[in-house]
Formats: sequence, C-alpha cells, structure tokens
Amino acid sequence: MAIYESINNTDDGRRVLKLTSPVTLQPLGEIVCANEADVSAAYARAESAQLAWGAKSVKQRVEAVQKLLPVLLNNSEAIVDTVVSETGKARTDALLMEIYAACDSVSYYCRRAEKFLRPEKPRAHGFLGLSKTIELHFKPLGVVGIITPWNGPFILAINPTVQAILAGNAVLLKPSEVTPESGRWLEKVCKEAGLPDGLVQVVIGDGQTGAALVESAVKKIAFTGSVATGQRIAESCGRQLKPCTMELGGKDAMIVCADADIDGAVTGAIIGSCMNSGHYCCGTERIYVVEAVYDRFLEKAIEGVQALRQGSEYGFDEDVGAVFWDKQMAIIEGQVDEAVANGAKVHVGGKRNPNLNGLYYLPTVMTDLNHEMAIMRDENFGPIVCVVKVKDEAEAIAMANDSQYGLHGNVWTQDKQKGIDIARQIDTGGVSVNDMAVGYGVHAAPFGGRKDSGVGQVNGKVGLRGYSFCQPVISDRAAAKKATGFPRSTEQAETFKKVMKFIWTTRIGRLFW
Ligand code: NAD
Repeated sequence: MAIYESINNTDDGRRVLKLTSPVTLQPLGEIVCANEADVSAAYARAESAQLAWGAKSVKQRVEAVQKLLPVLLNNSEAIVDTVVSETGKARTDALLMEIYAACDSVSYYCRRAEKFLRPEKPRAHGFLGLSKTIELHFKPLGVVGIITPWNGPFILAINPTVQAILAGNAVLLKPSEVTPESGRWLEKVCKEAGLPDGLVQVVIGDGQTGAALVESAVKKIAFTGSVATGQRIAESCGRQLKPCTMELGGKDAMIVCADADIDGAVTGAIIGSCMNSGHYCCGTERIYVVEAVYDRFLEKAIEGVQALRQGSEYGFDEDVGAVFWDKQMAIIEGQVDEAVANGAKVHVGGKRNPNLNGLYYLPTVMTDLNHEMAIMRDENFGPIVCVVKVKDEAEAIAMANDSQYGLHGNVWTQDKQKGIDIARQIDTGGVSVNDMAVGYGVHAAPFGGRKDSGVGQVNGKVGLRGYSFCQPVISDRAAAKKATGFPRSTEQAETFKKVMKFIWTTRIGRLFW
C-alpha cells in the first residue's frame, strides 16, 4: 500500500491525501476524498442504474458480467502494475491473488448464478402442506456498499462486486485510501466490459468517506478490514438496521503433527507466512509443531526462508515484496522487538532488508515465543514464520484456540481423517488440511470468521444469496377456498385441541410434523 499523509483540503473542503510508493519511497500522487454530497450523488446514479439492471433476468446479467473475463485478461499486466506500485507486493502475488483469483471469481459465479438464484419451491409442512404452496424469490437489495482494505486491493473489490451485481444490485465501492488506483480499476474494467453506467462506481476516500457510505442509503455493507473499523461500522449498521457482513482480521494457527510430510508442511508454513509480504488475513501467524518433528521442521524452515528472494525489480522471480505501508512496518518491528526483548530468538531476518531502499522487511524465522507476546496475540501481518514447540496435538489445539481471532487455520498430517478431526476442534471460520489457508479462493466453501474475525459468511451460494433478499410468496393450492378465522368459538377451539392431540401424541400424527 502506498504510504499516505493528509496534506490539506480543497477549496470546497474535501480532504486531500498525498501517497508515497512503498517501493521507491517517491510520491505516487494525491487523492481527493469524496464527501457526503459525493457519496449521495453516486448513490443516486447507482439507484437509477440498478432499477433497470435488477429487472433483468439472472441469465441476462450473467451474459453481461462474463464480458469482464476478456477485459481482465487483456488488462492483467496493467492492473498488476498498479497493484505493485501501490502495495509493493511481489509481482507473482499480484498476478495470482488479484488477477487469477478475479477471473476465477467471475467465471465461478457466472456459471452458477442462475442455479443459486433460481426460485425454490419448498413444501409447506404439516396440514399447511395440503393447502399451501411456497415460492422463494431471491430479489436484489438495491444499491450495496463495499468497503475494502489494502492487502488485496483488487480481488477484495471485484469478488464481492461480481456477486452483488449478479444478484441484481448496483455497487458503490470504497477502496482503501492507500490503494485507490487498484480500486479504481474495478470501475474501469466494468466500463470496458460494457456494464451499465453507474452500476459499479468507485468512491475514493478515507475512513470518513467510508463512514459516509455506511450512513448513506445503501441497503447493505460488505466490509473487509480491521476489527476496530468493523466494530465501528457494525455499530452504525446496527443503529440503521442495515444488514452487513464483517470480514475482519485473523491470527491463523498451523498445527504440524508428528506424521506430517515435513517438506510439505515447511513449504506451507513459508508460503502461508510470507505470501503477500505476510499481509494476508488468513496468513499463517502461529505454527505449533509437536516435539517429535520440531527440530527437523525448524531446520528446514530456516533453510527455506533463507532461500527466499526479496527484491525491488518486480520480475516474476521475486518471492517476497515490500511491506505495504509504514504503519504496518512499525507494527511488525515493534512486535518482533518486544518478543526478542522477552526471550524470543530470531534465526533468520528479524530486521529491515539493508540492501533495499523501500519498505522491505526480511523474511524471518522466530522461536522461543509465548502467548504473552504481542506477536503471538495480535495480527502481525509481516513475513514472519513463528514456530512454537508443543508436546502433542492436544496442546497444539489448545494453543491454536487461545486467541481472540478465529478466521482460518491449517493442520498437517498424512492421516486425512485425523486432520479433519483436528480441524473440527479448531474454533475458526474454516480450516485447511495439508495446505495453507485457501478458504477465500475455494468459492463453494462459505468464508467468514468467528470470535473477533467477523460476522456473517461470504462467497459461494451463501454469499451470493447474501446480496439478495429471500422473499417467500405463499399461496393456496385451491383457486378459491372457504374463509377461516373469525368469528372465534368454543366449538372451533375444541376442534383445534383434538387436532393438536392427534398431531403431537399419535404415531400417524408425526406425518404432520
Ligand atoms: P481498516 O479497517 O483500517 O480499513 C479498511 C477500510 O475501511 C478502508 O477502506 C478504510 O478507509 C475504511 N474505513 C476506515 N474507517 C472507517 C469508518 N469509520 N467507516 C467506514 N469505513 C472506514 O483495515 P486495513 O488496515 O485497510 O486492512 C487490514 C485489515 O483487514 C487486517 O486486519 C486484515 O486481517 C483485514 N482483512 C480481512 C480479510 C477477511 O476476509 N477476513 C481480508 C483482507 C483483510
């Protein structure tokens, strides 16, 4: 992410932020933050676009949305360039996380939207089933607001947007103030794909702009970001009775069992900890290795991290990029220093890369850590492999669950069923067995956090339907039927009593449960 500072206001009072590249530490430009009036104007345009868009069939929407695919492929290098310039992430991270994943999201939801949003006809239960039919219709919400962070500035914008518009909504996206141009690409690709004007708009700005979006007339907020901001937004949504999803931070644990394939586990640990410079909500931040394989694991982890290539040329052959902004660097350095002061050991790295000018933190391996240290409690988001020796799997599970967060996690064992059994004891929104946390990219799996990691689930059928309102339409089987109801009578009550006795005390009555 770009580093930013507030410089002044425009004559009409809009806040202006100056951005600096984390790669070159040179100025990237300025952004003018949208104010409440700008958000309202964007809302009005979106509302008008949504009327016509929401009236289209899902098939028509799919035909329009899948035109994003060639546009994404044609613009992939340009989008990657923007993401790299604003974030400093490694080029391959940008290609895979932002472009491959975006295309995968578009194709997944386009292929399945009609199925997921098709009206359903569940059977009414009991006596009602004899007389009533039900249709469930998945109707658009209207204009929805999407607010995103800086660590996946394009994918975290396009993935929810694709779902929202396929469900018939218009979208106002507020990207992070430090990755505005990556966010702006969303509007550009939608325009190039021929989606209606106003359907997908990007509102550039900071937290105050985001707050204005939350307080605007949008019908839902899909938020991805930190716990503190999520709490503020959820409070506002609560007051407005506005639905919201909260995809928040994580402190994912990895458990390495004695029977794990150690080479595979070490590779998973390094990529899980260092991918995207460690700025991954489901990044591996704590690794619990049972003592039987601890030494072997640690030795290979040190070797693997030492072999990582960190550079500022941004060819596809660099493994780890820059820390995206100076505030994150301060958190990473602060936590490492505090841990070391309290007895932690740094085996590799543990400091900024002295050979590079930008915000580069060396890929690091640390041990001798405990849960009193901030690095084991709070999000670190750095390229740091934190390894802890545990007696056995039970201790590893207890340590994994000893966290305020509950986003994802991973378990490594060659016994798949054992891996699943351990996964089920981890109190998180999802768990991977023998892989780093892949949950966000496996669309069929609902994604969301427990504890402080969030509220609600996104992605897949659940996520797509989350951008719609399920309206049941209940009607009578018979075209005309005798009215029941008033006037009430003792005779009517006696009949009900007999019916109740029949349903809830007899075996045949169970048929009506
Ligand atoms: P952040 O909470 O500081 O900002 C996120 C977004 O919220 C930005 O666009 C920001 O401008 C906006 N914002 C800030 N204050 C606001 C307010 N009062 N009202 C409305 N909007 C406001 O988070 P960040 O530092 O950009 O992102 C990093 C965090 O995101 C990490 O905690 C990371 O774990 C989390 N994250 C979670 C997921 C997930 O899916 N669970 C994915 C990626 C990142």
